[in-house]
Amino acid sequence: AKKKFKQAEVNIGMVGHVDHGKTTLTRALTGIWTDTHSEELRRGITIKIGFADAEIRKCPSCGKYSTSPKCPYCGAETEFERRVSFIDSPGHEALMTTMLAGASLMDGAILVIAANEPCPRPQTREHLMALQIVGNKNIIIAQNKIELVKKEQAIENYEQIKEFVKGTVAENAPIIPISALHGANVDILLNAIEDIISTPKRDPNKPPRMLVLRSFDVNKPGTAPEKLVGGVIGGSIIQGKLQVGDEIEIRPGVPYEEHGRIKYEPITTEIISLQAGGRFVEEAYPGGLVGVGTKLDPFLTKGDLMAGNVVGKPGNLPPVWQELRLEVHLLERVVGTEEELRVEPIKRREVLLLNVGTARTMGLVTGLGKDEIELKLQIPICAEPGERVAISRQVGSRWRLIGYGFIRE
Ligand code: GDP
Ligand code: MG
Repeated sequence: AKKKFKQAEVNIGMVGHVDHGKTTLTRALTGIWTDTHSEELRRGITIKIGFADAEIRKCPSCGKYSTSPKCPYCGAETEFERRVSFIDSPGHEALMTTMLAGASLMDGAILVIAANEPCPRPQTREHLMALQIVGNKNIIIAQNKIELVKKEQAIENYEQIKEFVKGTVAENAPIIPISALHGANVDILLNAIEDIISTPKRDPNKPPRMLVLRSFDVNKPGTAPEKLVGGVIGGSIIQGKLQVGDEIEIRPGVPYEEHGRIKYEPITTEIISLQAGGRFVEEAYPGGLVGVGTKLDPFLTKGDLMAGNVVGKPGNLPPVWQELRLEVHLLERVVGTEEELRVEPIKRREVLLLNVGTARTMGLVTGLGKDEIELKLQIPICAEPGERVAISRQVGSRWRLIGYGFIRE
């Protein structure tokens, strides 16, 4: 009998400096090359968050882990452990806010560090800080490109990594030497994933909540109006489950103009179809990228217009904030730059970039208190009181992570 398709149950982030091998490792684990947009192919760097699923399997005969039904080490038939979803992030410094949107969906992460470069590189530090800020503790370090270095260099690099992670959330993370390009030690990495990034206990009866990362108009140009399919939104479910036929609300919703000002209106619609791991399903759960087919006008969902929204049951979503009061924690040093600049205090009238879940918005600082700021937001956000907010500031020509905050009521 054909076994029921199991959906991915955890999201595992691939993070680290550009060119250290995140996309290559994702391919080694899943067979999928996540740099698929023409712009990414042309520039040779990851720009959009990419999801790729894999089945983790164990060989009952030799005990090794792999992702194939037949054990690559001894040839025996392997046993299914679980399906996981890898989230490949951009390591390019200009795309930090994209990485942060992905980080809010990660249950654990693999920090990829190239063994043939000094550690830490700027985005190695920046990505680890991002994991720290979103509260991610299930970290594995992959010391990649190990075949390029001599044994002494590998040990020296290992010592640098150890020193770098001291006192951080990755302090006790295992460091596994691998070659993503040659697939070396991938079995040990998979074993570590099984040990360290376990599936969180989840209550499917909690009210559903999905964070939107993307949205699309899937109709080909020139489709006859009666053949048009409704808008599709893509994201990851963070609690509960979604079912075909469910009524959903999307917040903050769609922009409209009133007296020359842009406002947002929540919208409700119905789930027409659901995809998880690229297959049509009746129900979708946390883990992996979920595509939700709706009755929305596809005009509203084209080109990622709905990214940053929150989906749930009508009347059950967190509040929408146009103004925000944050308990602020500033970092000592700006991360992500080659030279480590001090973080200056936040000033009144300054514009900051905020990441909350998969949403990002600019905030004008309107009030300053002791360890607290008030902001007026350019685009409102839907979030729970107490939720974490990553705070970036423009330093030179780039947005840099300078701290985090918690939403106050
Ligand atoms: P990303 O920016 O972190 O996603 O890095 P990529 O996966 O795009 O890899 C950057 C470059 O490093 C590519 O040319 C890869 O072929 C190469 N690369 C990745 N992993 C390895 C490895 O284990 N060994 C060697 N020699 N090259 C690697
Ligand atoms: Mg990449």
